[in-house]
Amino acid sequence: MSRFLEDLFGELGIDCTEEQYDAFDGYMKGVLEFNKAVNLTAIREPEEFQIKHFADSVLVRNCGEYRSAGRILDLGTGGGFPGVPLAILDPDKEFVLVDSLLKRLKIINELTGKLGISNVNTIHGRAEDLGRKPELRESFDLCVSRAVADLSVLAEYAIPFVKVGGYFIAYKGSDCETEVRNADKAIRTLGGEILRIDKADQTGMEHSLIIIKKIKGTAGKYPRSAGKPSKSPIK
Ligand code: SAH
Repeated sequence: MSRFLEDLFGELGIDCTEEQYDAFDGYMKGVLEFNKAVNLTAIREPEEFQIKHFADSVLVRNCGEYRSAGRILDLGTGGGFPGVPLAILDPDKEFVLVDSLLKRLKIINELTGKLGISNVNTIHGRAEDLGRKPELRESFDLCVSRAVADLSVLAEYAIPFVKVGGYFIAYKGSDCETEVRNADKAIRTLGGEILRIDKADQTGMEHSLIIIKKIKGTAGKYPRSAGKPSKSPIK
């Protein structure tokens, strides 16, 4: 078990059992091992990994919108962030991790399977295609996403998956006000409303969580076909 993570989570007031610390440790070791062959993260140093991938991922647990959610989508999960750390800490919630790169999801499946993290499922595909599937569209209490796209593009990827009355929370850096302002039209067009921006600087890094509520259904024409949202964001 990592002493470093114990101290870090201690500072953040996060309760974590011995088994959960072991799962974090095993997950980090597994990702760093696979990372030698498949690009999962640019961060290779264990302490930095635990700060930027573990402590940062779990910041959303401070939001009431997260605490009340049962079924959560992590869109563009990459190496499993923020989805896997959240799944380790909250075994009663169900997590669906989406990414367009199958190689990354296979690694997540292998590691979560080996470590007994059973509340994680992965789905391979692009958000623009998956968001049109009836079994996924408007079916999540919450969608979270970190480091995937500009908010005006990300809104078109994420909001279609969220139930009316549910939430989308985007992880962003500290200076996100312009990005948020520029995404306002897209968010409203897709049925969302910006509720607030939560600032966090607990881990020495300044971060923002943009909390968006879905107040009405997303029009059938969204998301547009794969590639369109990033090429011509809703403005
Ligand atoms: N959320 C992770 C990874 C960020 S990298 C983290 O914070 O560390 C962005 C990831 O989003 C990549 O793995 C990429 O394959 C995925 N991605 C980008 N556009 C996507 C799309 N349209 N649909 C699904 N996944 C996408």
